[in-house]
Amino acid sequence: MSGFNGRFAAVFFDLDGTLVSERTGVREARTAVGTRMLELGLWQKPATAFADTIEIVISGILEDNDWQWPTWLHSEEWLTRSLGVAGVRVNDDEFKELVGVYRNERSDRAAPIEGWPEALSAARGHGPVGLITNFHNGPMQRQKIRGAGLEGQFDGVYISGEVGVWKPEPGIFEHAAQDLGVETADCVHIGNSIISDVDGALAAGMRAVLVEEDDRPRPAKLNGDVVWCEDLAEVAEWLRDG
Ligand SMILES: [Mg+2]
Repeated sequence: MSGFNGRFAAVFFDLDGTLVSERTGVREARTAVGTRMLELGLWQKPATAFADTIEIVISGILEDNDWQWPTWLHSEEWLTRSLGVAGVRVNDDEFKELVGVYRNERSDRAAPIEGWPEALSAARGHGPVGLITNFHNGPMQRQKIRGAGLEGQFDGVYISGEVGVWKPEPGIFEHAAQDLGVETADCVHIGNSIISDVDGALAAGMRAVLVEEDDRPRPAKLNGDVVWCEDLAEVAEWLRDG
């Protein structure tokens, strides 16, 4: 941690891996899709085998696209491609049913990360609080916010799939600041990704806080201006120290 002087005009947070655990629910939701396929007679192997297929397909898409979900790709392309890889044919109703199973499982299991109330409360001591999140599907991300009990906590929610610009592009940070009526130079963005959150916020002229998850150590190469916090409790402390 390092100190800073003065107040921020607004404080922005990332969602996945920062305020909401990314680990909870993803595997379960993918397995639930496999289970429903078994029930519908579309799949004969264990449900987890279809979850494995989805993981491989999604990793492939991300790897081919610099680890960002490409905006031009249909939001349910992961399912279309996974079904293709598995050699499973479904009709439109079955496809919608499987998407629904995934969405519901995912948002029902969304779990906020410990320390979020303190971090958001400390942020509110500065000014408006916004959420800037990379996700292709706006309604699904909003359902996750509700599922994690974070609805109503933000003055602005900026989802890349809705804004049309993805972190780390400065445009999404600039859009969020403008929407809240503040200058990016007076803001801080707090997130768990060096590329999306830290590099993006710095490029937009914001201060950046990298908050770690799962006890990963402090990255060896980190711009000296970037504040590194072990968890949300430390983020809260840093924001209050201002
Ligand atoms: Mg994140």
